Amino acid sequence: MAEPTLYRQLPAIDKLLQFDEAQILVEQSSLHWVTECLREMQAQARTCIADEGRLPDWHNDWLAELSRRHHAFGQSALKNVFNLTGTVLHTNLGRSVMSKSAITAVAQVMSSPVTLEYSLDGAMRGHRDRAIADLLCQLTGAEDACIVNNNAAAVLLLLATVAPNQQVIVSRGELVEIGGAFRVPDVMEQAGCQLVEVGTTNRTHLRDYEKAINEDTALLMKVHTSNYSIEGFTAEVDGEALAELGKKYQLPTAIDLGSGSMIDMTAYGLPAEPMPQTYLSQGIDLVSISGDKLLGGPQAGIILGKKKWIDAIQKHPLKRALRVDKMILAALEATLKLYLTPEKLTTELPTLRWLTRSPEEIRRSAENILVKMQAYYGDHFIVEVESCLSQIGSGSLPIDRLPSYAITFAPLDGKGGGLERLAARWRQLPQPVIGRLKEGKLWLDLRCLDDEHGLVQALLS
Ligand SMILES: *Cc1c(COP(=O)(O)O)cnc(C)c1O
Repeated sequence: MAEPTLYRQLPAIDKLLQFDEAQILVEQSSLHWVTECLREMQAQARTCIADEGRLPDWHNDWLAELSRRHHAFGQSALKNVFNLTGTVLHTNLGRSVMSKSAITAVAQVMSSPVTLEYSLDGAMRGHRDRAIADLLCQLTGAEDACIVNNNAAAVLLLLATVAPNQQVIVSRGELVEIGGAFRVPDVMEQAGCQLVEVGTTNRTHLRDYEKAINEDTALLMKVHTSNYSIEGFTAEVDGEALAELGKKYQLPTAIDLGSGSMIDMTAYGLPAEPMPQTYLSQGIDLVSISGDKLLGGPQAGIILGKKKWIDAIQKHPLKRALRVDKMILAALEATLKLYLTPEKLTTELPTLRWLTRSPEEIRRSAENILVKMQAYYGDHFIVEVESCLSQIGSGSLPIDRLPSYAITFAPLDGKGGGLERLAARWRQLPQPVIGRLKEGKLWLDLRCLDDEHGLVQALLS
């Protein structure tokens, strides 16, 4: 068809607006929204004619397309998904899932004014972190604490306060990059510190730190190499030795611990993860951790340590820019309170519940839904239950894997295209199902699945 004929087929906006379907949408949103949407559709249809010499796919029903766009507009950009990737703390899927008590606490502070920086006994309350800092001290033995937006912010603020325009000594083996944009040397530079690298990639000794100390040195620092490990002929300086060296030269010491767990993970059969309380008791002055990694709370950065330094950190102008709001504080407080009764953690804290699920329990869950999956997908895929390995995620050691079970989908025709299409279709579900493509199969690791029934409903639709 010639282009002018195609352009003539585009319906007029005022005509479309007269239909009942359009009027209902006007009532639900506004005349402005519906008109703008129709204008955009007109523009897209014109582009389609100009570029491809055809009308858009939805041309046969403009009102249905309008309704579809209205529905999509009403949906949140942050959709709930099924995380069946096998990575428990998945940064792109928002890391920790909050406990019930944290959810309730957030809803409560959202709906009313609260005593964020207001003391009911008339006394001045230093700052908004006060109440939760006390809880953190109780749990870790720290003298005081500071809470900011995330651990990257915590490290930035710590460095900017303790070592402005001065030197910070770090081992070469610890100059790591964590998840894209967080690189220790870059953060140092942004904080206005001069990085002094000591030792070698695989071995750094106490004498390497000691030799680098001069009158410009302001801090001795360690970074937990969360996401990679050096094996073989290696040496690093432990917290105790570093703290002693700091005392000898009257220099503060700090550790960016990253994930950092407040409980001994090995007691739950999980890989060991350093705890802030260990380093604090060894005499390290400042330790920083994330709120939404193994701690299982909201996105936050927590600095724990000596009162003298935390006071200075709280007073630094950057704190104002990096502070958290009442919702984060409420979620963090509720999460930390669970740690006061550690025996409840594996039932009440989703992160720990998923990390500690036994392979047997996961296998039973997979077998519960296997037959339904085979009945529905069996014409095109070999559907099986297979053992696999989950990851903790978010910078915990990728070599530390947890035995788990997955439902796997392998294309009967042996071609990968069908798998890509299946994965794409599941991403378009009202509650998208996110799995992992690996070894020519689509894997759904059921470790983080709570709603078996919901998943079956979604996959059979
Ligand atoms: C994860 C991590 C960070 C960054 O923490 P965020 O809370 O994601 O900002 C910094 N340092 C280490 C060692 C980490 O593991």
